[in-house]
Amino acid sequence: MSRVIIIGCGGVAKVAIHKCCQHPEVFTDLLIASRTVSKCDEIKEKLENKTKTKISTAQIDANDFDALVKLFKEFKPEIVLNLGMPYQNLIIMDACLECNCHYLDTAAYEPENVDDPVWRERYEKRRKEKGFAAYFDYGFQWDYMEKFEKKGLIALLGCGFDPGVTQAYVAYAKKHEFDVIDTLDILDCNGGDHGYPFATNFNPEINLREVSSPASYYEDGIWYEIPAMSVKRQYNFDGVGMKDMYMLHHEETESIAKNYPEIKRIRFYMTFGQSYINHMNCLEDVGMLSTTPIDFNGTKIIPIQFLKALLPDPASLGPRTVGKTNIGCIFTGKKDGKEKKYYIYNVCDHQESYKEVESQAVSYTTGVPAMCGAMMILNKIWTKPGTHTCEEYDPDPFIDALNKYGLPIRESHDPVMVD
Ligand code: NDP
Repeated sequence: MSRVIIIGCGGVAKVAIHKCCQHPEVFTDLLIASRTVSKCDEIKEKLENKTKTKISTAQIDANDFDALVKLFKEFKPEIVLNLGMPYQNLIIMDACLECNCHYLDTAAYEPENVDDPVWRERYEKRRKEKGFAAYFDYGFQWDYMEKFEKKGLIALLGCGFDPGVTQAYVAYAKKHEFDVIDTLDILDCNGGDHGYPFATNFNPEINLREVSSPASYYEDGIWYEIPAMSVKRQYNFDGVGMKDMYMLHHEETESIAKNYPEIKRIRFYMTFGQSYINHMNCLEDVGMLSTTPIDFNGTKIIPIQFLKALLPDPASLGPRTVGKTNIGCIFTGKKDGKEKKYYIYNVCDHQESYKEVESQAVSYTTGVPAMCGAMMILNKIWTKPGTHTCEEYDPDPFIDALNKYGLPIRESHDPVMVD
C-alpha cells in the first residue's frame, strides 16, 4: 500500500505514470499534480479503467511552497516523484521534509534565473573550485544530506537513465566485474528519427542549456573544460550503427567522481546529427538560447522559453519517432591482477516504447528508472537515508527491476574502446 505523488505531466512523467499503473500492488494511490491539470486529467481518463491504481489529479505550481505543503498534507504521500523541471528541486525537497515524505527526481538542480545574484555568487565559486561551467550541479542538493538523514528520509537524485541507470551500472561493474575501475566512458546514443528538421527529445530548455554549455572531462581529480562540441568521435552502436558523438559535461560525472574516487578518468559522450548542431549553433548565435528576459513590445519574454513554445512538444514525438537508443558505460580496470574491459548498456526501441506507453524511447528510458527507483524505496530495498544518487545503493535489485520492466542490460567483455 503506497501513496505516491508525481509532479509534472510531460514526456517523462507520462511514462512513469503508465509504469506505476502497471504495478498497482506497489503504487496503490497515485496523485498526478502539474501546472496544466487538463494534461493530468487526460492521462487519468486513459488509464483509470485499465489499472487497479487509484488515480487522482490536481493543479499545482511547484514554485509555491505553501501550495505544495497543503497538497502533500492532504494526500499524505510516502514519496514525491519530481518529474517536472529541475528548477523546482529544492522547493519540492523542502516540502517533502516539511511533510515527512521521500523525494526522487531525474535531473540535478539548476536555477530558472541564472542572473540571480545569490545563486551566481555560489556558482562562480564552484566554477572556480571545480572547473566546470554547467549551470547544474549536485552541491545544492547535497546540502540537504543531514536534513533528510535526521528524518530517516531518502532524496534519490537523478533517477532517470543518465543520470540514474548509468550510475547503477558503475556500482554493478564494481560489484561484479572489477576490483578496481580505472576509466569510465558514458555513451548516450539516440539513433531515433522524428522527421522534423529540429526538435529536442526532452524538455527543450534543459536539453539546449546542457548541450550548448562548455564540455568537460574528469581526470586525476580535475575537471578539464573545453568548448561545446569541440571533441567529436565516431562509434558503432549495437542496434543503431555508426554515429558521431560529442563530449559533454554531464551531472553524473560529479557524483561518480565523488563516490568512486578510484576512477581516474570519466568522460561523457552524446550523439548528435549535423542538422541538430547547425540549428543549435544558429539559435545560439541569434540569442534564442538566452535565459535573460528581454523586452518585446512592452512584454518581458525569456528567449529560450519562447523557443520552447515554437518547437514540437517532446511528448508529441512518440508516434513519429523510429529507431533505437543505446545508452551505457564502458570501463577499464583490473580483476584478480589482470587488466580488463567491460561494456554494459541498454538498447531501447522508439516504436516499441510507443506501443507500450505511447511515448518515445528518450522519455521511456527516463520514466522507467524513475518508477523502478520509487519501487526500491517503497519496497524498502533501498533504505539508506539522506540525499543520494543511484551508485550509492545495491545495484542488483534495481537492475533486476529494469531487466523485468522494460530496460534489460546487454554486456560485452571485449568492447571497442573510445580513443
Ligand atoms: P516536459 O517539458 O515534457 O514536462 C515538464 C512538465 O513539468 C510539464 O508537464 C510542465 O507543465 C510541468 N511543469 C513545469 N513547470 C512547472 C511548475 N512550476 N509547476 C508544476 N508543473 C510544472 O519535460 P520532460 O518530461 O521531457 O522532462 C522532465 C524532466 O526529466 C526534466 O527535468 C529533464 O531534465 C529530465 N530528464 C532526465 C533524463 C535522464 O535520463 N535523467 C532524460 C530526459 C529528461 P506544463 O504541462 O504546464 O508545461
